Amino acid sequence: MSSDSIFDKILRKEIPAQVVYEDDWVLAFRDIAPQAPVHVLVIPKRKLAGFAELPTEETHAVGEYFQRVARVAKELGLENDGYRIVLNHGPHAQQSVPYIHAHIIGGRQLNWTPA
Ligand code: 5GP
Repeated sequence: MSSDSIFDKILRKEIPAQVVYEDDWVLAFRDIAPQAPVHVLVIPKRKLAGFAELPTEETHAVGEYFQRVARVAKELGLENDGYRIVLNHGPHAQQSVPYIHAHIIGGRQLNWTPA
């Protein structure tokens, strides 16, 4: 397990964040450097460093996490126009925070130049 990250501190409410959704499984908050009108990060409360740790996680917990990502996107009002989910893992993807997080990006027409 990786060391304490900025998202651990946000989860513990040690540093502020604009929280848009919280329950027993996840915390969702606005990205500090939004790339679109809506840019929200969803993290599981049970820490995983990255996407690569999912295979060893309980299937139930993984399902709860991804269902929450979809629920938050819906509650943000993005369902009809659509949105993008981004999960960066590791250095080639430029993951900058070693705590798994799904980006929900939307609120405008998005381009497709991910690589
Ligand atoms: P990554 O590049 O790891 O996929 O994404 C990390 C994201 O976390 C970036 O989009 C970055 O703007 C965001 N971020 C980094 N530090 C903070 C912070 O202190 N607060 C919030 N709300 N977002 C942060």
